[in-house]
Amino acid sequence: MATILIVEDEAAIADTLVYALQAEGFGTRWSTLGGEALALLEREGYDLVILDVGLPDISGFEACKRLRRFSEVPVMFLTARNDEIDRVVGLEIGADDYVVKPFSPREVAARVKAILKRVAPREPVTRPSEGPFHLDSERVRIDYHGQPLSLTRLEFQLLQCLLGQPERVFSREQLLDALGVPADAGYERNIDSHIKSLRAKLRQVAPQAEPIQTHRGLGYSLRLE
Ligand code: CA
Repeated sequence: MATILIVEDEAAIADTLVYALQAEGFGTRWSTLGGEALALLEREGYDLVILDVGLPDISGFEACKRLRRFSEVPVMFLTARNDEIDRVVGLEIGADDYVVKPFSPREVAARVKAILKRVAPREPVTRPSEGPFHLDSERVRIDYHGQPLSLTRLEFQLLQCLLGQPERVFSREQLLDALGVPADAGYERNIDSHIKSLRAKLRQVAPQAEPIQTHRGLGYSLRLE
């Protein structure tokens, strides 16, 4: 059973979420403060966090930023205002989805299910070892020149997708599709930033190699060298 941590200071909203999620068979835990939620997340394993942006102690954005220093648990934001939505959609804070208040609790439960399905381990690719890369999909780990890469979940999925078909040019839309992310304009730009951080991590291992190729106006491919 997946357990969802709900971080929301309004009891009425938290109650409807607890009810809707439990009706779908999820376990729930409710916290009203960002700081308290972070402490819980450091101590206990949760499968997903529903995080209100407007919390009494620290903002949901700040909580997410701190959370990302030690965890890649999926985060869904609850937002109340348009300016908040812009920041969530920018996704620089590493959120997986967001819903705008007022929302339907059943809709939230459906989205939670969709995210958990998306982050579930994928089928292993047919060729686990490709050139300098070695993919271990069960341990969610990719070695590069014999060194384990420390990747975020999205970086791992991106590299796994590119490794699945070396030399193939993937458009940003196709990469988003492989990640199970809806293809909105904001997300497309986000692919570029994930590729950028992925490249930086590869460069730390092999500074001269540039295995991820940019095809201007088309997308990205992986070159095995
Ligand atoms: Ca609030």
